[in-house]
Order: sequence, then C-alpha cells, then structure tokens
Amino acid sequence: MTKEISRRSFLKGGLAAAGAVAASSLPLPAAVKGATGEELATLIDIRKCIGCEACVEACQEVNEPKFPEPKKPFPKMYPSRVKVSDWSDKRDVTDRLTPYNWVFIQEATVTVNGEEETFTFPRRCMHCQNPPCADLCPWGAARKLKNGITRIDSDICLGGSKCKAVCPWHIPQRQTGVGLYLDILPNFAGNGVMYKCDRCYNRIEKGEIPACIEACPEGVQKIGPRDEIVKEAHAIAKEINGYIYGEKENGGTNTIYVSPVPFEELNKTIEKGPGRPGLQPVKDSMAHADNLAKAMIIAPVAGIAAAAGKFYSTSKKMTRSEEGKK
Ligand code: SF4
Ligand code: SF4
Ligand code: SF4
Repeated sequence: MTKEISRRSFLKGGLAAAGAVAASSLPLPAAVKGATGEELATLIDIRKCIGCEACVEACQEVNEPKFPEPKKPFPKMYPSRVKVSDWSDKRDVTDRLTPYNWVFIQEATVTVNGEEETFTFPRRCMHCQNPPCADLCPWGAARKLKNGITRIDSDICLGGSKCKAVCPWHIPQRQTGVGLYLDILPNFAGNGVMYKCDRCYNRIEKGEIPACIEACPEGVQKIGPRDEIVKEAHAIAKEINGYIYGEKENGGTNTIYVSPVPFEELNKTIEKGPGRPGLQPVKDSMAHADNLAKAMIIAPVAGIAAAAGKFYSTSKKMTRSEEGKK
C-alpha cells in the first residue's frame, strides 16, 4: 500500500466527515462575490488531495434535487440508434461520471525520484472558456454563463448527446425516460436528458461556494476570478517546479489543475473510458469554427428533418391502416 493510500484510508472516516459536516454554507470570498459577470475559475492542487471523496458525497447531497426521476417503462425509440442509458438503479456508483454522479476521484500511480507515489484528484466538467458542448448544442440547452459556468438546462435538453460527442473529455452523461422528449416526440427525439457538473450555479447565485470546494477537508480546490487563479497556479508551479492542466487545453478552461508531475505521466496510469475522462493534450476544438459552425447549422435542421420525416411517414402509415379499417 502506498503512503498516500494508507493516509487516505486513515483520514477517510475522520477529517472528511468533519469537513463535510462543518461546512454547511460558507460564503463566497469577497473577491468572488464582487466578480459578477467575470469569469470564475477553480484551482485544483492535486498535491493536497487525500482521495477521501467528501467532495463527491457533498456534490450528490446538494444536487440531489436536480437528479433525474425517470418514468418507466421507457418509450421504444425509432430508429434504435439512440440507446437507452439508465443509471436510475445505479445511483450509488461513484467511481465514474454518471447522471447521478457529477464528480469522481481519479487515481494515478507514478514514479517520482525513483519512488512510487499515488496521486488522487477530483474530475468533473472543465467549464471550458469556449465550450463546444454549448456552441454546438442544436437546441440551445447547453449554455455558457457570464461567470464562466457551462450548464445544461434539463428543461430544454432532448438528450441527443451532441454535447458529449463534441466535448474533448466526453463529460455529459445521459439518463433516459426523463425530459422534454417524452412530451413532444417520445419515440423519435434524443432519448433523455444530459447531466454534468453545473459548478453549483444556484449556490454561486446566492453567494455560496460550490459544495465540493466547501466540503473538502484539505482545501484542495479554490474558486476565484480566472486571472487570479491562473496567476496562483503559475506561482505554485514555479515553486514546486510543477505543471498546469486546463489553462490552454481546449483553448482554455475554467478548471486549472496544478501537479508536481507531468500530466502526460498521470494520464498514462489513470483508468480511462466511458465516464472516466483522460488528461490528454487537447487542442482548441472551436478553432475550426468554420467546420463546426456548418455542423451546428446543419445538425438541428437535419435532426428536425429526420424527426419530422419519420413522424410524417409513421402518421401516414397509421392513417392508411385506419383507412383500411373503414
Ligand atoms: S478534493 Fe478534497 S474532498 Fe475531494 S477527495 Fe480530495 S481531499 Fe477529499
Ligand atoms: S468539459 Fe466538455 S462538457 Fe464541460 S464545458 Fe468543456 S466541452 Fe462542455
Ligand atoms: S461544483 Fe457543484 S456540481 Fe460541480 S462537482 Fe462541485 S459540487 Fe458538484
């Protein structure tokens, strides 16, 4: 067992719980409160994380009212290309992103100065400065707010997964059997609603700190105006001869990680796959705005045309069969 893991196990039931309980509604720092309309970013110093998951628990607790309550059985989809995605009976899964788990703890074991060391760190939406998920959502359900938060409006989302497809980290996760599609086109639309970290936008509106930041017993994360957060990240990186992730990735994000080891090294050993994003280099996906803009213009039209076409042909068939009964 590495020293970090044993430290984590020791602390898990103690400090973490104390942190979660003690922190009920800390106000945002004055600098953040005054920054209405300014882009806010979070700084995540991975040296400090003990992997206790207090942040994960806090996120689930405060955001529970936003979680989907799907209607079952699910309507059958035509065509069946949009698969059912049902996490409603797996709400206790915390080792990956799901519609019911918007942050999880990733673990990387690397060799530093000849010694094996394990690092843990929270992973969630990066809140990109120029988010393709929002820019390319055909229905305008995903939006970037002035304060740097990107959120998906569950009242508008049809669950078509475009946001997930264009996100370099494939962050949003779909739950079937919930949302607008049930009312408008239950058999043809996107098959649910997409969910991800909304950086506790409603807490920030009230002048409160995001729940995961507040509950952390080790002060791993902090939130502030982006330029200050970037400055602080550089100061830490300089001091520890370390590395930064999120400042430039995908053209810049509002989640800045600082690490004493290169992110390429961390990326090699973390578990990656569905719901488990990597730490790979990411080019600015919106730099090819020409192509993407075309996709954006075509996508909704194609979607509507496809849906309307299918709807029309089905209605026609139904009319014919009704006529046959006469
Ligand atoms: S970020 Fe904080 S709360 Fe979350 S696992 Fe790390 S130490 Fe625990
Ligand atoms: S990380 Fe993905 S889901 Fe989050 S804002 Fe960026 S593109 Fe959107
Ligand atoms: S900012 Fe809020 S929604 Fe996002 S991971 Fe933290 S607690 Fe969850």
